[in-house]
Amino acid sequence: DPAAEQLLRRRDRVLGPSYRLFYREPVAVESAKGVWLRGMDGRDYLDAYNNVPAIGHSHPAVTAAVTAQLERLNTHTRYLTEPVVDYAERLLTKFPAPLERVTFACTGSEAIDLAIRTARYQTGNTGLIVTEHAYHGTTLAAAEISPSLGPNNPIGAHVATIPSIDTARTPADQVGPRLLESVRAAIQQLDARGVGVAAIILDSIFSSDGVQAEPAGFLAPVVDLVHEAGGLYIADEVQPGFGRTGRWWGFERHGISPDLVVLGKPMGNGVPISALVGTVEAQQRFGSEVRYFNTFGGNPISIAAASAVLSVIESDGLVEHAAVVGERMRAGLASIAASYERATDVRGAGLFLALDLGEPDAALTPDPELAARVVNAMREAGILISASGPAAATLKIRPPLPFSEENADFLLETLDGVLARETR
Ligand code: PMP
Repeated sequence: DPAAEQLLRRRDRVLGPSYRLFYREPVAVESAKGVWLRGMDGRDYLDAYNNVPAIGHSHPAVTAAVTAQLERLNTHTRYLTEPVVDYAERLLTKFPAPLERVTFACTGSEAIDLAIRTARYQTGNTGLIVTEHAYHGTTLAAAEISPSLGPNNPIGAHVATIPSIDTARTPADQVGPRLLESVRAAIQQLDARGVGVAAIILDSIFSSDGVQAEPAGFLAPVVDLVHEAGGLYIADEVQPGFGRTGRWWGFERHGISPDLVVLGKPMGNGVPISALVGTVEAQQRFGSEVRYFNTFGGNPISIAAASAVLSVIESDGLVEHAAVVGERMRAGLASIAASYERATDVRGAGLFLALDLGEPDAALTPDPELAARVVNAMREAGILISASGPAAATLKIRPPLPFSEENADFLLETLDGVLARETR
C-alpha cells in the first residue's frame, strides 16, 4: 500500500522510536465503525485484536454523550459536578460489597502507579510481586513492575518476580499449587532482603503471560497467602475488565475479592479514563494522609464517555454476549487445534482467546515464525489478530465486545484456511 508506506516514512522522521506498530507492513487506518476498520487502502478489516473500543468503534452513544458534555461543561476536577458522582455510584454497583470507593485517573499506568503508592503507604511495606512476563504500564513505577519490557528495562529494587503460569505444559491440578509455591518463595526472597510485602499485582487473564485462564479459582490461595504476609492484592483489570471474560471483572472467575482494582483501556471506549477502585480500608491511610490530585482524572468528558459505555454494556447485554460468542469461538478453536497438530493449545475466557502455534513435541516448542506468517495471512484475508505471549507464538484474539457469531464464524473459517496453507 503506497499511501501507508509514505505515511510510515513521514512518521519515522518525526515520531520517537518507541512508537511500535502491530504489523511489519502496517495497516494504515482512516476510520472505523463497530468491529470494522477502514484502511487507507480502501479495504475493510475485521478488528479482532482491539479491546479499547469495548462497545465498538465510533459508537454513537459515546459520540452523543461526549459532544453534549463538551458543549455544556468541561473542566478540571476540583469543581463539584454531578456526572462524576452519578457514574461512581453506578460503577461501584458492579463490584462486590467491600469495594466501595473509586479514584479516577487518565491511563491504566497512572492508576497502577496510584495503586502501588496506596498499597505501600497502607501496609508500611515496599515489596511488590509480579509475574516474570508481566506488563503493567509505562510510568516509572509501572515500568518497574513490567519485566515484559525486556532486559534493558530496570525492574525495581523491591520487586520479586514469579515464574509465569504455563497451563499448556502444566497438569491442571498443579497450576494452583505451583503458583502458590512461587509466591511463597517470592515472599521469602523479599524477606531475605529485609523487604515486607506491600502487594501482589496480577492480571487475572495473564494477558502478557500468554493468556492463562484455567482452571478458574487458582488465584484464591495466593491471595490468602499474600494477606497473611501483610500485603494487599491489586487486581489489574485493564485487560480483563468490563465484560471481556464473560463476567464483569476477571477476578470474579477466581472467586476472590481484591483490595484494590485498576481499570483502564475499555472504560471510555477510547476516551482516556482509568480508575482505582478499592476497599475503604485499603485506601484509608494514603487517601487521608497524602495529597493526590489528578487534573484530568474523571473530567466531565471522560466521565460522559465512560457512562455511555456502562449503559451500552448493560442495555446490549454485552457481558453475556462475550460469554456466549466467546464459547462459540473457543469451541471453534478447539476443533481447529484438533485438525492441525501444530495448533498446540487453546486457552481463554469470554472474548479473550489464545491459540498456541508450535511443534507437536513433548515441549510443545513454540513457532514464532509460523505465528507471524499466520497473522500476516489473516491480515491479507482482512482480519486483524496478533501473535504475542512470551514466545510470540500465541495468537491472541480480543475483539470489541459486540463481535457477532457471524464475525466469529468468519474468523474461524479464515483461520482454518490459513492454517491449512501455512502448515502444509
Ligand atoms: N495493565 C495492563 C494489563 C495493560 O495491558 C496495560 C496497557 N496495555 C496497562 C496496565 C497500562 O495501561 P495504559 O497504557 O493505559 O497506561
